[in-house]
Amino acid sequence: MGEVIYSAGRDTPPDVRLIHFNDVYNIGASSREPVGGAARFISLVKHYRRAEEFKDLPGLLVFFSGDAYNPSLESTVTKGKHMPPILNAIGIDAACAGNHDFDYSPENFAHLGKLCDFPWLTANLYLDGKPIGDCKPTTMLTTTDGIKIGVIGLVEEEWIATVNSIPPDVEWRDAATVAKELVPKLREEGAEMVICVSHAREPNDIKLAKEMPEGLVDIILGGHDHHYAHEIVNGVTILRSGTDFKNLSYLTARRRPTGKGWDFDVLKRDITSDIKEDEDAAKIVNDLTGALKAKMEKPIGITCVPLDSRFTVVRTQESNIGNFSCDVMRYFYNTDCALMASGTIRGDVIYEPGLIRIKDILDCFPFQDPCVVIKISGEKIIAVLENAFCKVPALEGRFPQVSGMRIVYDPDAEPFKRVVSVSMGCAQDPKHYEPLVKDKLYTMATRDYMQRGKEGNEMMTDCEVIVSSESGLLMSTLLRQYFLSLKILGSWSTHPRTSDAINPTPETSTGQAINDAASASSSEDSIAEAFIEHPETQQIGRRPPMLHHSTCTSQRFQRLQARHKEKGMLEDEPLSQNNEEQDGENPVSPVVDEATQKILDNLKRKAGRKWGRLALGRGLKGDTEESSKDELGGRWDHHGLNWCKGIRPRVEGRIKTVKEAA
Ligand SMILES: [Zn+2]
Repeated sequence: MGEVIYSAGRDTPPDVRLIHFNDVYNIGASSREPVGGAARFISLVKHYRRAEEFKDLPGLLVFFSGDAYNPSLESTVTKGKHMPPILNAIGIDAACAGNHDFDYSPENFAHLGKLCDFPWLTANLYLDGKPIGDCKPTTMLTTTDGIKIGVIGLVEEEWIATVNSIPPDVEWRDAATVAKELVPKLREEGAEMVICVSHAREPNDIKLAKEMPEGLVDIILGGHDHHYAHEIVNGVTILRSGTDFKNLSYLTARRRPTGKGWDFDVLKRDITSDIKEDEDAAKIVNDLTGALKAKMEKPIGITCVPLDSRFTVVRTQESNIGNFSCDVMRYFYNTDCALMASGTIRGDVIYEPGLIRIKDILDCFPFQDPCVVIKISGEKIIAVLENAFCKVPALEGRFPQVSGMRIVYDPDAEPFKRVVSVSMGCAQDPKHYEPLVKDKLYTMATRDYMQRGKEGNEMMTDCEVIVSSESGLLMSTLLRQYFLSLKILGSWSTHPRTSDAINPTPETSTGQAINDAASASSSEDSIAEAFIEHPETQQIGRRPPMLHHSTCTSQRFQRLQARHKEKGMLEDEPLSQNNEEQDGENPVSPVVDEATQKILDNLKRKAGRKWGRLALGRGLKGDTEESSKDELGGRWDHHGLNWCKGIRPRVEGRIKTVKEAA
């Protein structure tokens, strides 16, 4: 079982057995494989701890490399307090603190640390002359066979500036220097093996391994990245073990025959649904999540295309979920452009076509800082983008996702000299893009986090704020409202009006478009692009309001805000109730023809029977059954719902490297 990542080819029994994991957020299982979840994860750890086949082998040691207290659905309520019982149940021996563990302040971290029955380590981050959050710099463990193992915790400098609650006078010390100072002491105290638990990007762990004398540290168990990676650098094994209770590494270590150093065999395990949940752990998880659960399971829409939120994608390139969420921001606030740091997108999975549940939205967009709207000069937009691209190819959350912009950059150029060209959407003609004008002011929807200058965005702090953080909506709320207004995500693959308006590309006439989609209805793609509108609605064919406003006026925002206040954030209404008429285009025929019905039927089957009944049957037949109420008690029919057109989540060349643009 599992995937052999590395084997030194030794067949003697191991001298030490370890488990490593990092970056865990959601204690519940997800709906996609590997489903993860703390209860299954604990079950697998217990297997390696107790199973008959391991009974003659040394006892298991478990290492965690940080990021557990935030962000997650639960953490927004508990500030991380739900996590210690889970971490204790796993049986961790030593952990390194991660950036998100400090999201609710170093004091909160220290308080939670008292609830944990294992030490949190950080040897190179100091506040008021002590390791931050009452961390210990190092610890010494002893295996059941009496082998002493020294452990040191080290973190990178880069993420410190991303944590709101860490004060500016925090002191970071060079990781290699601190290791060279502290590890010899561990060796003197009898450590035969030294493990570094780190919370740093892979390139920084590699740098650390290169900067330490060979044999100082035996293995670096890293976190912060969410991908799985193993390498041996300068004799040091470097490992990161995936994320989110979905993966772990099981390691067996053997003393090298030379007597110097260790061979680490590494087995990767995915936490798949065939692993039985541990009963005790499942009870803890259920108690913690029970109250939230029912609400979170409510479907709010269907995605007809896979939405790719993997870190390896959203942090290195334009992604469809990034484009989509930026489009929603831009659409909602009627701005010239939208820009968000891809670190906003936390899902780290592909949301396959099918139901979108509230929990998917909150898993993917858990942050609690709202969207804001600012006025920003072309010159500053370039500075923001330079900052956004400066860490490529590291998987940094500052990589941008945008709307209303076309960008070409050179990832091989020197940092801060990478932006090659930027053009901005033209308000009068959505298909047209114009070169960015440096001294022109543009309206931009972005995240409060960025506007406050986090992650190198200081240049945004003095921009004029049009929609402030007090009145801005959370990304998750915007998306929930969007789905409520739309019910089904996606659009006819070639519906020209709305998708053009948001995502300008040359397209054919509507009639042709429907025929095209219908003729391809046997393929996954055409279903994937299908978007259902209620045939009777008069909203069909209307343009989104943004097209009628070349700039956003404060009056318009006052109106928007007034409406939010009046109706509360979770109004069961579409995003826009603008009654502006379309510009001389014929509305889509309200008649459901045979070809269209075929697509509806396919989609219905794909999305499951119940959903089909709710989303399609109801909408088409006007059924009014109580059971079909959505999260806000709204029904899946046309009564009281002004259906509008969809924004297509697709990748379309908004961000290109020079090579791609050539
Ligand atoms: Zn992290």
